Amino acid sequence: MPAWLDKIGFRLILVVGVTAILIIGVFSYFNIRSHTEVLLAEVERRANQLSETVKYSTRHDMLFNQRERIHRQIRDIGEQPGINRIRLLNKTGEIVYSSKPDDIGKMVDKNAESCFVCHSDQKPIERLTISERTRVFRLHPDSVRIMGIINPIYNEASCWEASCHVHEPEQKVLGVLDVTIPLADVDAQVQSSRLEMTIFALVSFVALSCIIGIFVYRWVEIPVHTMVTATHEIAGGNLNHALPENRSDELGQLARAFNHMTRKMAEARLQLFQSDKMASLGRLAAGVAHEINNPLTGVLTYSSYLMKRTASQPDIQEDLKVIVRETLRSREIVKSLLDFARQSVPKKSAADICEIIRRSLSVTENQLRLHRVKVETNFNEDMPHVVVDSNQMQQVFINLLVNAADAMSESGGTIHIHLARINLSPYGTTQIRKALCNKNHNLMSPDIKINGLPTIRLKAKSEGAEGFLYLDPIYGSHQHEYGILSGNIMSLQCPQCLTSVINESVRCPKCNALTYSFEVAGKGVFRGCTRNGCDWQQWPIMDEAGVREFVEIKVRDNGIGIPPEDMSRIFEPFFTTKGQKGTGLGLSVIWGIIDNHDGKITVESIPGLGTTFTIRIPVKS
Ligand SMILES: [Zn+2]
Ligand SMILES: [Zn+2]
Repeated sequence: MPAWLDKIGFRLILVVGVTAILIIGVFSYFNIRSHTEVLLAEVERRANQLSETVKYSTRHDMLFNQRERIHRQIRDIGEQPGINRIRLLNKTGEIVYSSKPDDIGKMVDKNAESCFVCHSDQKPIERLTISERTRVFRLHPDSVRIMGIINPIYNEASCWEASCHVHEPEQKVLGVLDVTIPLADVDAQVQSSRLEMTIFALVSFVALSCIIGIFVYRWVEIPVHTMVTATHEIAGGNLNHALPENRSDELGQLARAFNHMTRKMAEARLQLFQSDKMASLGRLAAGVAHEINNPLTGVLTYSSYLMKRTASQPDIQEDLKVIVRETLRSREIVKSLLDFARQSVPKKSAADICEIIRRSLSVTENQLRLHRVKVETNFNEDMPHVVVDSNQMQQVFINLLVNAADAMSESGGTIHIHLARINLSPYGTTQIRKALCNKNHNLMSPDIKINGLPTIRLKAKSEGAEGFLYLDPIYGSHQHEYGILSGNIMSLQCPQCLTSVINESVRCPKCNALTYSFEVAGKGVFRGCTRNGCDWQQWPIMDEAGVREFVEIKVRDNGIGIPPEDMSRIFEPFFTTKGQKGTGLGLSVIWGIIDNHDGKITVESIPGLGTTFTIRIPVKS
């Protein structure tokens, strides 16, 4: 089948075109038919009038049997244009008078056209309607159509009372006047109407096809082509490719949904990328830090020793001071690297978050004043205590404050620190960090991540396929990765010991399908529905705990903001916008610390207006 047969445009043209031709055809048929009827009725009326005129104009001459005058009158009238023939037949069928003199004296077959109506039942009908007296015929198959109208001449008193006459009073019909008129004009008009209608139908079809073609091309063809190109771009890995969103119709909606999907994919990919990079960089950083720490200690020890030995030589002392200072700075960087690599285990204890922030403010006071930065806070004294490593948390706030100060212009600015208690449902926010099978095998898989988080990997079989099911680790979020699986799930197993995780005794309360269950380390049983598309999940411990309380800290500055293209990278280690000023480790260290506290850090920024970091830490771990 050729490709164009499959096109929407062609099908639309076919459907609309055929419909239009059908409608025009039916309309034309009835229109032409009624038009023909009107025309024929008009001819009929004219023929009848003519017939009556002849009848009455010859009446007087008939009564007095003025044959020559009757001949002349019939001939004169018969010669008028638009009249075929006028004949007068007597009761035996003999042509007595005719506008064509050759016909006179000929006999007409009573069963032939003009007599058939009256003589069809072998007996003459005396009173006939006009349509019964009318007939349409052709003299021979190729000639024009002719309409004939017969007009019986009835016997009347004056006929048999006249002395000249031979008509008997019993005779009812004396003869018949037959007038025939050619229908050439009517037929020509009908023919031209048909031609006009055919041309109209064809022109309509062509015009409709063109209009549909143009609109389908503009409204369907071009956007679909753009979309196909976009899918190729995205399949090729270019997730920055966006479709134009300037349309308000369904294709516009599709374009917006498509762009939204692409953005989500790009975010997920970046997050994945970031987590992977963080992990490998973390290992690298830890290794490097350990290697450098020892020689640095040596440098520091020996330079301090040299300082003591050269106390009397101030010129050498100055140089040694620089060495000691720079070595100390290097050690700070190494320490940051170790923090980022999460080598330092947090020592958690209940702490007042306001106190931690106050201490951070006092540490950075000088630096903030130098940048002409004002700090506004809304410390709420009834904030609940949180279980955190105070030193690490202090590092978080110091880093955020210094960053904010650096983001300010020469004329300074303001930092707002806003604290609040918020409640978040466990549904959609709680992460499963460690899932175990019956035999205590770890089900977590760092290979496949969903939104940057390791997934729960289960071996799955369906009606014909076999593969892995990767569950979204966020309770209530259902962006599961279905591997190569299709159809209904028949079995779900631990990938290591092949113990089934399907629970035959518990059915999904939503769709009655089988459910799976596994142990979350230290947090009870987790259940979910096996049917693809069903969103039922249950985590009794979390459900019983109900909404969890969080402390939310927002640090907002009115600095230069972060360009959108950098937003996804700012938590990456060594990513910096400060040039030589920073190590690029600050924000990645913060990210690591907050993650270690079961918390979350997010960032929003409007270039030119400022940046807001939001940190959420659970009140009870
Ligand atoms: Zn197992
Ligand atoms: Zn279900």
